[in-house]
Amino acid sequence: MLWYPYTQMKHANRLPKMVAGHGVMMELEDGRKLIDGISSWWSVIHGYNHPVLNTALAEQAGKFAHVMLGGLTHEPALQLAEALVRITPAGLNHVFFSDSGSIGVEVALKTAIQYWKNLGYQGKTKIVSLKNGYHGDTFKAMEVSDDSDFSHAFADVLHRDFIVEIPEGGFDAPADLVQPAIDQLEHLLISNSENIAAFIVEPIVQCAGGFHIYSPLYLRAARELCNKYNVLLIFDEVATGFGRTGKLFAAEHAGVTPDIMVVGKALTAGYMGHAATLSTDAVYHSFLGESYEKALMHGPTFMANALTCTVALKSIELFEQEDYLSKIKQINTIINQEFDTINSPFIADKRSIGAIGVIEFKDAAMLNGFKAFAMDKGVWLRPIGNVLYLMPPYIIQADELKSIINVMQKWVDQST
Ligand SMILES: *Cc1c(COP(=O)(O)O)cnc(C)c1O
Repeated sequence: MLWYPYTQMKHANRLPKMVAGHGVMMELEDGRKLIDGISSWWSVIHGYNHPVLNTALAEQAGKFAHVMLGGLTHEPALQLAEALVRITPAGLNHVFFSDSGSIGVEVALKTAIQYWKNLGYQGKTKIVSLKNGYHGDTFKAMEVSDDSDFSHAFADVLHRDFIVEIPEGGFDAPADLVQPAIDQLEHLLISNSENIAAFIVEPIVQCAGGFHIYSPLYLRAARELCNKYNVLLIFDEVATGFGRTGKLFAAEHAGVTPDIMVVGKALTAGYMGHAATLSTDAVYHSFLGESYEKALMHGPTFMANALTCTVALKSIELFEQEDYLSKIKQINTIINQEFDTINSPFIADKRSIGAIGVIEFKDAAMLNGFKAFAMDKGVWLRPIGNVLYLMPPYIIQADELKSIINVMQKWVDQST
């Protein structure tokens, strides 16, 4: 019997079964077709069953599907590393592959802690993270996350180091609203930096932790403070990467290069699990030496799987060829237009950025039954807590997008 994620299995019977996908449409066993509003946990950016991706995969499968990266290399891995260095913020020149976002985060944290050790510092091992952050479900990733729904059973085992506030006021917040969070970070670093290895954030948008959006001014200040107090800055772009916030990477909103950056989810267009942890020259060079002592002792069995690298490369190619950033801009315009007319005293906030639309309700109970309601109307959406969000595949057409938002509107109207 299959055990499902984030699920009280007692109530898990009779889940809808998907049998085929075409573009943004998900086809169910009973014949129903749903427009995908969340890109399968934000990964399926080109939609399902994409002919170009399928062909690239079949071609690579005809050569070899996988080979260990220990002691061998191959063209898809080399090319994907090169492509990632080219498209990510300048200075991130070294790419370590792993098989999921959580592991990509683990690699980032191990890299940061070992960096200081390699340089001869003792005790710079603690990690600062943001309130409401989410960085994955493995142990160290849980430690730097701040969502008790995901980790309450392990509260006694997890050693949370330092959590700081996110700035108020959203993306366009004036400097004086952002400053208190910057001050808090600086105070923490002033008194603790000799123990701190890194500061990890989801840049601009915190996704699973409630879709909070914050100012790029904060990231710029964080970059300066990390430099000043000798702390590495890690951007977890597993959710925000590949255009989701309207820039190819959210770091670009701030014009900041982190010391370490993690990408995942949309990296492989939702075809298979993979992540990459990128580092600057300074970080990478600290690992060079005569012995294994300084080396990064990590190596997931399926890192740089050849099918995975092939589909990721093709996905990046499609993204660039078809000018997805302008598609994402259009998606954002439509979200804003359509959200304008969704109003209710039960709504706490509406916000959007790039291809993300969020309606936050005052109470999670107001979304009870929403998923079934949406399915009845041909739309696949799955709220998180009190947040109803939309993160469609970038290939979505205007009328399909409006249909999804129309379902949100109907739900709000009928519950008001
Ligand atoms: C989903 C997510 C992760 C974890 O990725 P998995 O592939 O599910 O392990 C890490 N960080 C962020 C920001 C995410 O959204």
